Amino acid sequence: MFRKLRKPRILVTSGPTREPIDPVRYLGNRSSGKMGHALAAAARRWGRVVLVSGPVGLKPPRGVRLVRVETAGEMARAVFREARRADIIFQCAAVADYKPVRPAAHKIKKSGRSIVLRLIPTVDILARLGRTKRTIQTLVGFAAETRALERHALKKLRDKKLDWIVANPVGRADSGLESDFNRAILLGRDGTRKILARTTKMRLARQLLRIVVNAARR
Ligand code: C5P
Repeated sequence: MFRKLRKPRILVTSGPTREPIDPVRYLGNRSSGKMGHALAAAARRWGRVVLVSGPVGLKPPRGVRLVRVETAGEMARAVFREARRADIIFQCAAVADYKPVRPAAHKIKKSGRSIVLRLIPTVDILARLGRTKRTIQTLVGFAAETRALERHALKKLRDKKLDWIVANPVGRADSGLESDFNRAILLGRDGTRKILARTTKMRLARQLLRIVVNAARR
């Protein structure tokens, strides 16, 4: 919660992360950054906005302070630094869950034989924010799931100690990853459940902000 008259500081993360395998290859994912960038652009109406973004092919929204990162580790450092001053945090980025143990110093040569890539977990940024969050901070997570959407999202809401989770179905052709459209179920810690029908990511961003900012204002 923040004082009614003050403009909230809103931190948004967006896009994928890239975990290097060697100097030319990486582990990535299909996040386009469209949802996070739409949130950052729409959040300007409500407050001061910082956008921490992984590598995306999008223009940064105007009037937003942009922090560019590449790996999950870099995103973690940037988010923990910016989170200290944030009233509301939308952790929209598709952060890698695993990274290669140690990236090879030189390009891995083709040998014709199979190779094993050993992966270790990255820091769960959102879970750590949930453990350390100030009571006045509002924490919003995203759950992109291909099945049992609501059950998985509710588990994340509780496990990561979030105030809200935006559950997105992925694996559908007409919305979600890479698309300009999205649909969601917004679940609140207080039991709120709102179905947000398929629409543009910009419209969905405005709807999410209205609900989350107004709830934080009380
Ligand atoms: O558990 P899962 O990765 O599906 O949770 C999704 C939520 O957790 C998203 O909000 C995502 O940004 C966040 N997350 C994170 N750090 C990770 C992995 C996910 O902050 N290493």
